[in-house]
Amino acid sequence: MKPQEYILIEEEFGAHNYKPLDVVLTRGEGIWVWDVEGKRYLDCLSAYSAVNQGHCNQRIMDAMVEQAKKLTLTSRAFRNDQLGPLYKELCELTRSHKVLPMNSGAEAVETAIKAVRKWGYEIKGVPEDKAEIIVCRNNFHGRTISIISFSTDPTSTTHFGPFTPGFKVIEFGDADALERAITDNTVAFLVEPIQGEAGVIIPPDGYLRDVRRICDDKGIVLIFDEIQTGLGRTGKLLAEEHEGVEADLTLIGKALSGGFYPVSAVLSNTEVLGVLKPGEHGSTFGGNPLACAVARTALKVLVEDGLVENAAAVGEYFMEGLRRIDNPKIKEVRGRGLLIGVEFHNDAGGARQYCEKLKEAGLLCKETHETIIRFAPPLVITREDIDWALERITPILSE
Ligand SMILES: *Cc1c(COP(=O)(O)O)cnc(C)c1O
Repeated sequence: MKPQEYILIEEEFGAHNYKPLDVVLTRGEGIWVWDVEGKRYLDCLSAYSAVNQGHCNQRIMDAMVEQAKKLTLTSRAFRNDQLGPLYKELCELTRSHKVLPMNSGAEAVETAIKAVRKWGYEIKGVPEDKAEIIVCRNNFHGRTISIISFSTDPTSTTHFGPFTPGFKVIEFGDADALERAITDNTVAFLVEPIQGEAGVIIPPDGYLRDVRRICDDKGIVLIFDEIQTGLGRTGKLLAEEHEGVEADLTLIGKALSGGFYPVSAVLSNTEVLGVLKPGEHGSTFGGNPLACAVARTALKVLVEDGLVENAAAVGEYFMEGLRRIDNPKIKEVRGRGLLIGVEFHNDAGGARQYCEKLKEAGLLCKETHETIIRFAPPLVITREDIDWALERITPILSE
């Protein structure tokens, strides 16, 4: 079939909840993907950071195939021999004490919300149904009804109400605002260490340390949503390490499977996950042996292949190259590791036009919020690959 035929049937039979670039992909390897006509592209999005280990990573694939032949799903009604080892390896790697496995990122967020509410009632002593969770403006935590209930993006919320109560929105990057917003009924502060979907928004230096201190002082749970920033993307295993802090709950997903399979997890450093008793929360697929085998290998690849260190070094090199682009329409180039945003001024005509041109030149990028292009290639990318990319990006972004 021709690309246009794939696009037509997709448009006819699929819901239109995405507006993808018109490229129909059929194969991937490392940082590269190929379309149905054999044209090769550098993937600069990595499925929103889910394929940090590169497309079709051989070791993860082998682990997946091997496990698929042995045992895929038991449900949590029974134990399986992949779950315990994943827990232990994840805890050792992230210095956590407890793990709760789910599938999608949104489910990890939902799990955290349930756990901190219960913690609030049973440990902190908040009156029933009064628990409050503080979140930030321009957050992105997923698409379920509870999660969009505290989204500030009208596209995410319009005509989806009624919404779940119990959330309070403050400015991102403003630690004083957090201090002011906390009441006796506050149970948690949920925040992304870097706001990815909002356009790679990096908080002021010291922000993560400040919110850690405030949460400690006020006795509330600090939740970092590291579903996008975690697992090497920013040049550290977790973005919280940039400021040497540890959240009480850390949410990971996306690259936890290297893009093979939906796997997410809530990591806990405190008694919070301890409040969940048998039957109170669960998921048919959460913690299944196939997911665990994939996740165990995805983590090994990150560590043993030095992908975290590579993200730091190559990310810095990439950002320097992008900063050399001379175009007054570019407002800012910012990022950490290989999570980089190039923001254009509002009158530059939007970022989409650049993404279309980059696609023609063999780079797949996605605009976020009209004026920002996010560059987030797989962490297996080399300096030579970046040179190849900059040769193509520089003339296009200079126009
Ligand atoms: C992608 C993302 C989610 C949601 O993950 P899904 O797997 O799409 O449900 C939540 N939080 C952040 C920060 C994300 O980037």
